[in-house]
Amino acid sequence: MRFMACFDTLFQTALDHMAQRHIRRVLRPVRHSGPVTVIRDGRELVNFSSNDYLGLSHHPALAARAAQWLHEDGTGAGASRLVTGTSAKHMAVEARLAAFKGAEAALLLASGWQANASVLAAILRLATEQGAPPLVFADRLNHASLHQGCMAAGVRQIRFRHNDLNHLESLLIRHADDPGLRIIVTESVFSMDGDRTDIARLSTLARQHGAFTYVDEAHATGVLGPQGRGLCAGHEIDLVMGTFSKALGGFGAFVTGSRALCDWLVNACSGFVFTTAPPPAMLGAMDAALECVPHLDEERTRLARNAAHIRDVVRGCGLSPEPSTTQIVPIMLGDAARALRFAASLEAQGLLAAAIRPPTVPPNGSRIRLALSAAHTDGMIDQLATAIPLALHQSAS
Ligand code: PMP
Repeated sequence: MRFMACFDTLFQTALDHMAQRHIRRVLRPVRHSGPVTVIRDGRELVNFSSNDYLGLSHHPALAARAAQWLHEDGTGAGASRLVTGTSAKHMAVEARLAAFKGAEAALLLASGWQANASVLAAILRLATEQGAPPLVFADRLNHASLHQGCMAAGVRQIRFRHNDLNHLESLLIRHADDPGLRIIVTESVFSMDGDRTDIARLSTLARQHGAFTYVDEAHATGVLGPQGRGLCAGHEIDLVMGTFSKALGGFGAFVTGSRALCDWLVNACSGFVFTTAPPPAMLGAMDAALECVPHLDEERTRLARNAAHIRDVVRGCGLSPEPSTTQIVPIMLGDAARALRFAASLEAQGLLAAAIRPPTVPPNGSRIRLALSAAHTDGMIDQLATAIPLALHQSAS
């Protein structure tokens, strides 16, 4: 009892410290009344913080197949994949996914976090067993789950400057004579900055230096590349990771790559082996999303156009949306308190756009992260374009 109370004091002190620095976060429930609208405290707000980039979370085809598969197979898979959790539907979705990504094989995982944290860790452990610790070249702004994967394997990362492939090349050259397998880990679209990696060059560099490439396509899948197949489509990338939780409107994640890679992960990846198989409803939504996505070019064009327009609006206010070139448009504000005031002003104007603060972004990197969706109407985009200058004015201290 006394032991618990002591820990509660520690927890509370940590929370108070965060609050003083304006970085304490709390959960604020919303109800999703549509793909880009939420009800919060009885008010409807237009959501500019959702990763539902194509509005598929409310698509009737996804809902229908999720319901159908749930009715056919129940609410839970009941066991892990290697025990009795694998159904013909898992195999069919994996086959569809591999075809969509143009890969030999695909493997479903419970979430994007779990995929990166456990798949990367498994690969790095295998590489470590080859005699020398692997050399992991990682973008400085890689998602926390990718860092987690390296940490879980006890491997130190060689970080290259964000999205700077010249720096990556110089590090590959500097370490050319070091022992150990080489692995390059990056994202194709960065979740907080909305910029993209030059995948063609990355692939060339990797071939030149004999490196394995691990690319997180969480924010590109469904949105970018031919028919939304991602930026790695058509390039030689050894492992592509992606999620169903963003443009694909559902939940869950995957990796695609060679048959040997996926067969080995089935045996060696703890985040695959020791977790319950994805449930039927989730699989149904995945299956329908994979069927719809290639046909949504009009939505992708509209999304890109709206993002370009909003970047112009942000720039027109003297603020920076750089380095975004995608549907993720940051408004760089620096100071956490200011980002909170900016978000509060947008909310007062009926728009939901979360302030992103450290530790999610670097110190002084606080921002509003706008995530645009093809489901935003022209009226909603106009509303945002009008709200940004007012929020700028109202958030100035
Ligand atoms: N990778 C990146 C780049 C992400 O932005 C996210 C989600 N924030 C994840 C992985 C984790 O995916 P999930 O939400 O499915 O766990």
